[in-house]
Amino acid sequence: MSDNKIPYKIYLNENEMPKAWYNVRADMKTKPAPLLNPGTHQPMKAEELSPVFCDELIAQELDNDTAYIPIPEDILNFYKMYRPSPLVRAYCLEEKLGTPAKIYYKFEGNNTSGSHKLNSAIAQAYYAKKQGLKGVTTETGAGQWGTALSMACSYFGLDCKVYMVKVSYEQKPFRREVMRTYGASVTPSPSMETAIGRKILEAHPGTTGSLGCAISEAVEVATSTPGYRYVLGSVLNQVLLHQSVIGLETKAALDKYGIKPDVIIGCAGGGSNLGGLISPFMGEKLRGEADYQIIAVEPASCPSFTRGKFAYDFCDTGMVCPLAKMYTLGSNFIPAPNHAGGLRYHGMSSILSQLYHDGYMEAISVPQTEVFAAAEEFARVEGILPAPESAHAIKAAIDMAKKCKETGEEKTIVFGLTGTGYFDMVAYEKYHDGKMDDYIPTDAELEASFKTLPQVD
Ligand SMILES: *Cc1c(COP(=O)(O)O)cnc(C)c1O
Repeated sequence: MSDNKIPYKIYLNENEMPKAWYNVRADMKTKPAPLLNPGTHQPMKAEELSPVFCDELIAQELDNDTAYIPIPEDILNFYKMYRPSPLVRAYCLEEKLGTPAKIYYKFEGNNTSGSHKLNSAIAQAYYAKKQGLKGVTTETGAGQWGTALSMACSYFGLDCKVYMVKVSYEQKPFRREVMRTYGASVTPSPSMETAIGRKILEAHPGTTGSLGCAISEAVEVATSTPGYRYVLGSVLNQVLLHQSVIGLETKAALDKYGIKPDVIIGCAGGGSNLGGLISPFMGEKLRGEADYQIIAVEPASCPSFTRGKFAYDFCDTGMVCPLAKMYTLGSNFIPAPNHAGGLRYHGMSSILSQLYHDGYMEAISVPQTEVFAAAEEFARVEGILPAPESAHAIKAAIDMAKKCKETGEEKTIVFGLTGTGYFDMVAYEKYHDGKMDDYIPTDAELEASFKTLPQVD
């Protein structure tokens, strides 16, 4: 069934791995809107960001012009422990679907953290260490980012304080223990350790927390503890920059065999894996050198692109972070308990938001039971047990391949398989037992949330 010329797995050798990250902003005619100071609504300057973020990461965050940023040697060496990641030709899935489409996926689950998040975690830890800091703080929802960051921090001997959304802290003890194995401290959020945590607990006793709230706590601790900075695992420009390693490897692997994709698909939570996967392809598209159909897939329960507003909004519940212009559901939006924890953020990367707004990419939303059906179909033929987040991309790729079967089109589809789902078996259990629902927010609920958007002119 294989077409001989293309192996099941396309690996690059060490010399073919990218030596620089690609910054897609350099090729964007309309740059993503700047972060604004939440008080003055003026663009944030580097010195205003420096109590919160590491200096070199701030420079990357604000750099809209440098196309290639060399990857420091220490980070390259760390990447070599688990990269290059394979680009897999999904021969078995193609056969099962009986589709003329050719399907490839870039698999980022081959490291202990189980997802692509390690690509940026190691970069952020490196710059914190280089600046001579003692440690970093962060939030984690389902735990993938916290896990990746604790691995990265232990590599560089940095302290790592993780604020974990309380409901996940209680429901996902295994993730928590992986983080502690790598030396991180893990605190359920909201906690009594911070002013914002105490305030939220007073207003909502018994709350099980949210990502926005955990961000506020982590930022407060970073800015009030000498030698600490805050790091974030998605949404920010710097994170998409680091994740460009996914797309650069994918492009190099495809080029090696002269393959040109027609469609590129990725799941979108804060936009980092998708932004990274598409970056070199989007660069070609922006420069008018090639065209690709690019599709973001989000949960119907948290539809930032497909039903959100393109507006300045807070990145956190405590409203201490800068304002970002993005597709957002409002910083107070609490999505229904969807099992793809990594896709439950109210906002979206400013870079992807601008590209979507300018018509360079599309977005669709999918209900969760269909996502799990696709995950299971994929697991049974391709062997990998996907993360629920990744399964959103699988669902869209399968649908596209089925459409190709009807039309006879031999499209080449590439999608990002961001991680494995071994820590998500409770979600799989709910699906198997028929106890999973597909809550989709009503227009009235979204309108109520949009009312809380800050007024910025
Ligand atoms: C965090 C996560 C995502 C979503 O985050 P993005 O920043 O949108 O990439 C997707 N898949 C997995 C496995 C994750 O851990």
